[in-house]
This record gives sequence, C-alpha cells and structure tokens, in this order.
Amino acid sequence: MPTLPDTIGFSVWIGTPDPLLADPPPFAALGQRVPIVGGTAGLGGIAISPGTDAAAPLTSDGELTVLFAGELYNRDRLAAAVDGGAPGTDAQLLLACCQRYGVSAFRLVSGRFAAVVVGPRRVVVATDHAGSVPLYLRLSEAGMTVATEAKVLAAGATGRLDSPPGTAPVPGIRGLHRIRAGTAVAVDRTSGRWHWPARAVRTWAPAYGRSIPDPDDAVAAVADRLTAAVHARASGEPVTVVLSGGIDSSAVAALATAATGPVATVSLGTDAGDEFDAARAVARHLGTDHTELKLPAADLIAELPWAVAAAEIDDPEVLEYLLPLVALYRRLPATPRRILTGYGADIPLGGMHRTTEPLELLDGVIAADMDSFDGLNELSPLLSGVAGHWSTHPYWDRDVLDLLVSLEPGLKRRHGRDKWVLREAMRGRLPQQTLCRPKLGIHEGSGLTSAWNRMLRDAGVPAGAVPDAKRAMARSLYASAVLCAVRPDEIRIDDVLAEVAEEGGAQ
Ligand code: ATP
Ligand code: MG
Repeated sequence: MPTLPDTIGFSVWIGTPDPLLADPPPFAALGQRVPIVGGTAGLGGIAISPGTDAAAPLTSDGELTVLFAGELYNRDRLAAAVDGGAPGTDAQLLLACCQRYGVSAFRLVSGRFAAVVVGPRRVVVATDHAGSVPLYLRLSEAGMTVATEAKVLAAGATGRLDSPPGTAPVPGIRGLHRIRAGTAVAVDRTSGRWHWPARAVRTWAPAYGRSIPDPDDAVAAVADRLTAAVHARASGEPVTVVLSGGIDSSAVAALATAATGPVATVSLGTDAGDEFDAARAVARHLGTDHTELKLPAADLIAELPWAVAAAEIDDPEVLEYLLPLVALYRRLPATPRRILTGYGADIPLGGMHRTTEPLELLDGVIAADMDSFDGLNELSPLLSGVAGHWSTHPYWDRDVLDLLVSLEPGLKRRHGRDKWVLREAMRGRLPQQTLCRPKLGIHEGSGLTSAWNRMLRDAGVPAGAVPDAKRAMARSLYASAVLCAVRPDEIRIDDVLAEVAEEGGAQ
C-alpha cells in the first residue's frame, strides 16, 4: 500500500469547547476518526486518518502544538533550513519551521495542507499557497472552531459575522469563513484573552510579472520542475494516474513511470463519450497497468450529490469538471490509493482558451483565472477523500506554478500550438500523436455536458432555460449536501431534477 498522509482532515475547537460542533461531525471524507485531545494547548476535536494505524494527530514541543492535514513537498530543504537533521514527519517539520521562523514558516513550506498552530500567545490557521486543502473557520469571543469541511460547521453556525482579514464568507452559512489561498490567519491571545480582529499574513501570491527566457531554457525548466514535482509526490510509491490521454495527464504518467517504475493508470468513459483510444496509446507506450471504466452517462450524473458534498460548491460549470473525477475515484477498488492527476495545467498555461490568438488576451485570461481560482475548490483532496483515496496535482506544485504563470505568453501559444512549452518539454517521452493532441476538457471527453443537457431537455426544460436549470440543481444539491449535511447517498438526483424541472417551467 502506498504511503498516505497521516491526517487528511479535521474539525477542532481552540479555546472553549464548541457545543455546536456536531457529534459525530458529518464528514464526507472516508477514514478513521481519531480524537484530538490537546489539554494543555486547549483544543479538542476529531481528525480523519486514511489508514488503519492512525498516528496521533497532534505534534507538540510543550510550547507550540501543530495539527496538520496533508503533506509537504520540499521536506529536504526545510530540514536543511531548520537544523540539517532528518526531517521526521511533516507535522514535526512544520513545528520546527514555526519554532525558527514563526508565522513566516508558511512562506517557506511548499505542500498540500491545512494546519493549525497553537502557541501560548498566538493561534495560526493556514492553508497552502493554492488553498488546495480548503479550511473553514468560525470565531467567537471564547475561541475558534476550524474544520476542513464546511458542512461540519454548518449546523447552527453563529459567531462573528464580519469576515476576518484573510478569509472569505462561505455562501449560505452565517458566521463561517474560508481561509484564503496562500494565507495564514493569526489571532493573538494573552492570559486566555483573544485579541480580535485576527491578522492575515499573505504567504504566496501568483506573479503578475512575466519572464522572457530563451525558449530552449524554458522548455528545460518546465521539464525539470515538473519532474521534481512528480518525484516529490510519487517517488518510490505505487501510484495511480488518472489518465485521459491529453497532454497534461500523459506528461504526469510519463514522469511518474520514470520516477517509480510501472504505475497504474485509469480512464473513465461513458456511453456518451470517452477518450479511451488516446489513453490506451499512452498506457501502451509507457507500459502502465491500465484500466478503463465505462459507465452509463445517467449514472455519472447521479453522482452529482457526491461531487457537491466533496467540492462544497454550487457552481455547475466547475462541477462538470469535477464530477467525472469523483465518479472515477468512487469506482476504484477500496484499498486507499495515492493518485496523481494532470488537473490544473490549463490555468497557468491558458489551455482552456484554445482559440485565443492575441497574446494580450491570452495573458489577460491567465491573469484573471489566477486571480479567481480561490474558493472553487477544484483541487480539494476531498474529491478523492470521499472514496478514501489521496490525490495530488503536480501542475499546482508551488515551484511548477510559479514558473508556468510567469512565462511570457508567447511560450504558451507558439507556432499555432496551445501549451507549446509543455508539449516541447515532453518531446521524446510520449507518442507524437499525444504531443500534438488538441485539448479536450474532461466534461467534453466524457460526454457529461451533453448528457446533462439532454437529461434536462428530456425532463421538459426548454433549451434556453438549461443553464439556469443546471444552476438550480447545483444550488439545491449544495443546500442539501453542505448546508444541511445530508449524506450524498440519501439524495436522489431524480427528485432534484423533477423539482427543478417543475420550478423552471418545464414544457
Ligand atoms: P488536455 O488538457 O490536453 O485535454 P488532460 O486531459 O490531461 O489534457 P484536462 O482535460 O484538463 O487534462 O483534465 C484534467 C485532468 O483530469 C486530467 O489531466 C486527468 O488527470 C483527469 N482526467 C480528465 N479526463 C479523464 C478521463 N476521461 N479519465 C481519467 N482521468 C481524466
Ligand atoms: Mg483533457
């Protein structure tokens, strides 16, 4: 079995026990529930561990106490910076960084995590640069409650309504705030008294500046950084790559194979569409242990409650991207897996804007997308966590992302090719047909968009009202699966469809 993080989620109060913290908390994450007991630090709650031999969730030196979910990817450099010794666990390493650097530690760590650091005079609540492990916060005069799932803190939420610096309100839940990407929120306390308002410490931001390297150097740098990111996530591990046969996931599969030897690859298709031929060509070229999963498109749409419970969003467009992955993760064998995806490459490379020719426009949409990803929860580990698996995304590795965002747009669109620099970086490692394959979105390749549209039309929704009906379905699912924490398997998609079709003036 691969090594998975010790902790993948938690809900915890700090200061005063939170009577509103539901017992048991309605986590969607699958895993062992481990009590968090931190008497001297004054905190308590529940952590989720993916394994059967769960480690104690807290790490403490008697002064600072660290609660850490997720994993770090620059362990060796961090260890060298703090004392040069063996790195220990990720939580121990973060503790050592906090001892040396204080809250600035969060500017040094590169990872996929949510963390709470409790000290005698300060509590810090933080996520990684991309906010890739969503983290939610409720404040009161007596203390704070923090959780990696909004639904766990949704019931009876009260507390301060103004969003503290470094947070954003959670739609539909009074008094619940989401920690922003690349932000640590610090609250000071003296003699047990909390000092509001909290302070936001910005730990990362996407670059606005662009660099103009020699094209060959840019290609080499992309290959190097992506190789390092895949290594940090896969080295020595039996990993699974979710593979479409597009350039993004094929590159990850190629680099993971080089890092660890044969990897497992899995492709999803439906009776409305698949990319099986393209994925098979890559799997054959790399010699992966490849599986194809095919399901009726209606079954894919019936998974929407799971996608909403996992992503905790009500945006139907983003849900179309995430739904096939959630359905795929839920159909993998139950033994926990370490999964690598090619998700997110298109944001810094402008891949979604396939036909955008003028470089000014291309760079403009990249800047706009890098400004607006926060809160979409596209990278959340809960997407696979609802099935007990751990997933991670090499293109949103901090070093890879910094490089890709900052390249001048003429390296992203070049010689009529989208994602040129990535395709060139993979030359010689993938079949020529894969290097040249035009982008196809996951919602398009799986036939999901067309199948969902057809389902609504068949239910009597007029063509012009389909986008609104999708929004209404997503909102209704969010109300059930997040605001009311209804278990996804208790929500019937047919009921949601019928309700929306009726309200939407079905013909
Ligand atoms: P391209 O952007 O060139 O199409 P891609 O297909 O790898 O490359 P996306 O379409 O953006 O990337 O899809 C995002 C990620 O979701 C993929 O990199 C892959 O990890 C996963 N994915 C997409 N479609 C499938 C599929 N049909 N089966 C398995 N995984 C998929
Ligand atoms: Mg694709």
